[in-house]
Amino acid sequence: METEIIDLRSDTITKPSDAMRQAMAQAPVGDDVFAEDPTVNLLQQKVAALLGKPAALYVPSGVMSNQVAIKVHTQPGDEVIVEKESHIFNYETAAPSILSNVQLHLLQGEHGILRAGQLAPAVRPSVYYMPRTALICLENTHNRAGGTIYPIEEIKKIREFAKALGIRMHLDGARLWNASVATGIAPSEYAQYFDTVSVCFSKGLGAPVGSALVGSEEMIQRARRFRKILGGGMRQAGIIAAGALFALEHNIDRLKEDHKKARIFAERVAANPLAGIDLKYVQTNMVVIDISRTGKTTGEMLDLLRAKNVYLSDANYTSLRAVMHLDVSTEQVLRAADIVAGTIRA
Ligand SMILES: *Cc1c(COP(=O)(O)O)cnc(C)c1O
Repeated sequence: METEIIDLRSDTITKPSDAMRQAMAQAPVGDDVFAEDPTVNLLQQKVAALLGKPAALYVPSGVMSNQVAIKVHTQPGDEVIVEKESHIFNYETAAPSILSNVQLHLLQGEHGILRAGQLAPAVRPSVYYMPRTALICLENTHNRAGGTIYPIEEIKKIREFAKALGIRMHLDGARLWNASVATGIAPSEYAQYFDTVSVCFSKGLGAPVGSALVGSEEMIQRARRFRKILGGGMRQAGIIAAGALFALEHNIDRLKEDHKKARIFAERVAANPLAGIDLKYVQTNMVVIDISRTGKTTGEMLDLLRAKNVYLSDANYTSLRAVMHLDVSTEQVLRAADIVAGTIRA
């Protein structure tokens, strides 16, 4: 009997390595509410430089980063265009309506990707009885669609469209690092088309805590104020920022290995005709498996797998999701693939 658990629910489950913990233990710290934490300041400088923006702000989570950005770009009563399967719409507890008093305008993308041509009908004419379209948020890579990459040409077209209308753009780039490593397009090349970008350190990069928001000096100054309102002003945050800094310096390039693992896993599981996997959309570190042909619910299938010590999550009502990460070996991935392929039955 196999007793070892192979946990592919998310790339957020990774734990800091010994070397990362060493860096955290030794980090110089100060009071970040006074902007005096040298490690937080260094992290912010590095992230801003990597994304080619003037300023950055370290925040406790990706949700806070997105929500601070929405607050920076909008007034109460404004409308924000997002994709229907986006993290902002699905997994942020309706925060835009609570914190910024804005309304989300949903557009259905294809595997999470909106086309520039879809936007025009969604933008409100400027009449006093309609909401004002203030912001467009894109997600790269796209989480619920299974780690799909936004084509940069499409981003460019959306930017040109938005710019002409004075609509701001925010990128939820929790996994922008994955898109960059997979395409060879630098994070700053993607970021140039957005007013603000949010990036996570606690997903594939393996840090325990934190995200960053980058943008202009003025936007980040406002973001700092709103982070404080949300209770996100931290004191000796250098301890955790050091983990993020370590992750930036050591763990970006190795995301390639996670992408390879996803490909191997997907190909093995796809050998089972009841496992619906479109290999074209296995683009980074995730694999989405449609199980509707088995007649079982995702909950039933997840329980069957859990009993065999393989942990997956669900991507949507009919699909499972496997996410590759730092703390799972190729050997474990192969074993998990065999167990998943053997369990997906009617
Ligand atoms: C994880 C994630 C977030 C939020 O990050 P948390 O740190 O969990 O708050 C935002 N957007 C996307 C696309 C994500 O995958």
